[in-house]
Amino acid sequence: MVTKNNSLIIQLIVLIGGFLLASMSSWFLYTIEEKAIINEFTKDVDERAASLYREVTANFETLYSLGFLFNGDNLPNYRQFSQAALVSLSRHPDIQALEWIPRVKHAERSTYETVLQEEFPEFEFTERKEQGQMISAKQRKEYFPVYFVAPLLGNETALGFDLSSNTIRYETLNKSMVTATPQATASITLVQGNEKQNGFLAFLPIYEGIPVTLKKRKQNLIGFVLGVYRIGDIFTSSALNNEVLDIEMQLIDETLPSKSEVLYSHKDRAEFTTDNNINYKKELPGIWGRQWSLTASPSHSYFKVRRSLLPLVTLISGIIFTLFITLYIRIISRRANVIQKVVTEKTAELYQANLKLEELSRVDGLTGIANRRYMNEFIEKEWLKSIRNETCMSFILIDIDFFKLYNDNYGHPAGDDCLKRVTQKLESIVNRPGDLVARYGGEEFALVLADTKAAEYIAKKCRSAIEELQLLHEYSETADVVTISVGCCSMVPERNSDPSIIILNADKALYQAKEAGRNRVEEYDSTDNLI
Ligand code: GH3
Ligand code: MG
Ligand code: MG
Repeated sequence: MVTKNNSLIIQLIVLIGGFLLASMSSWFLYTIEEKAIINEFTKDVDERAASLYREVTANFETLYSLGFLFNGDNLPNYRQFSQAALVSLSRHPDIQALEWIPRVKHAERSTYETVLQEEFPEFEFTERKEQGQMISAKQRKEYFPVYFVAPLLGNETALGFDLSSNTIRYETLNKSMVTATPQATASITLVQGNEKQNGFLAFLPIYEGIPVTLKKRKQNLIGFVLGVYRIGDIFTSSALNNEVLDIEMQLIDETLPSKSEVLYSHKDRAEFTTDNNINYKKELPGIWGRQWSLTASPSHSYFKVRRSLLPLVTLISGIIFTLFITLYIRIISRRANVIQKVVTEKTAELYQANLKLEELSRVDGLTGIANRRYMNEFIEKEWLKSIRNETCMSFILIDIDFFKLYNDNYGHPAGDDCLKRVTQKLESIVNRPGDLVARYGGEEFALVLADTKAAEYIAKKCRSAIEELQLLHEYSETADVVTISVGCCSMVPERNSDPSIIILNADKALYQAKEAGRNRVEEYDSTDNLI
């Protein structure tokens, strides 16, 4: 049975379980989506790093094409260099400058300066003072001046600048010479222009012949083809289709792990807030002696625009569904309770009706005492009890004398009334708990007296009591009032016998009473049949 408490517990379990399930599924979807977005983010950064790498290498390649100019016997002059360089520059607009850096022994310095003074009267080898001002280069064993520069416009300050006067530049240049490999510098502030823009230089060493040993390299070095690159420009032009990724990126030079340096910081928007929990680092392949990596963090909006409403919809629909199910259970259990109540009521009614029916089936409609059917059941039980206990049992049969005449003369209703009066009287005499007064048939009554020997005594009491009732019966042949004839029998039942014997005996005795003239009592005697 579904009790009210049980139903409440079930509703509570469904409610809590449903909410838990809804939030877990929503969270699950949320995390799956987040993982997918992070994957997309790392893919974006990987692509960006790859395109940056392609851009840098493509820019560096231009140095090789210029390097060919210096491989022949005759070195190019300023104009020849400029022409070739301008062709490359037109294809790579984000190169700040392409330069030729000859190696000049001190003895050759004035010759070099004089030659170029034909083009540029002010030309001389220069270096930068600490305050940033350009001055004539101090005397050194050898110089690495910027001798040719293209385009000149915007790079005038660089012309004549002796690269060996600056540590970073000289170290890279030297490394390029001894390793015979192209090398790029760390981030430097460019001498060109006034704006503080970070850049780097890339050196391609040019030798006479193909030097194999270190000694030969040092001896045979002619100079360097140099590219000047602005990091910001390269970064910008490497962006695919000018896409806005909503990712904050930093290009970091990690060539010296102890001295990693931010080369360039990129933000797609000014008002850019990053998700600091997510950081991704992508190392670029080594480029001309430098190890660069790209670190990236997505902005909040990067996630915002990519998130779907699915987790939220799942959560809300899960909650609604749970509420609906709980409500449904509530309605069903209420309905079940109502049905339960009705069933209980109907069962009780049915029980009462059955009781009544049972009672009716035992009771005589006219007199209200036990009918013959019930008497048979009763005597059956008492008989067995008597067998068990070996006690005596009495049975009395009563028949109203000349009752047909009573009916015929006073009418049937009066006859009924008479039967009721006789009943009441008999009941008043026989009233011990183990006794039963029953209507045996028409105007006949039976008395079952358990554990009783004195059948005849009771029978006589009944006879005289009825006579004393003084119910007028003018048509009776025995008296002026209603009288009865009684047959009775007392016996201790034998084992395996049934009560029909005592009934039969009492009936025989009744017959004798009738025969003997009515209004009397006869007792059946088992020894000689009748006393
Ligand atoms: P006897 O002295 O030999 O017993 O004669 P009797 O007339 O009493 O016996 P009989 O068997 O001839 O008649 C019994 C009568 O009892 C017949 C019937 O009209 C009457 N009777 C039986 N049941 C009822 C009843 O429920 N109500 C009424 N009013 N009369 C009944
Ligand atoms: Mg009779
Ligand atoms: Mg009779």
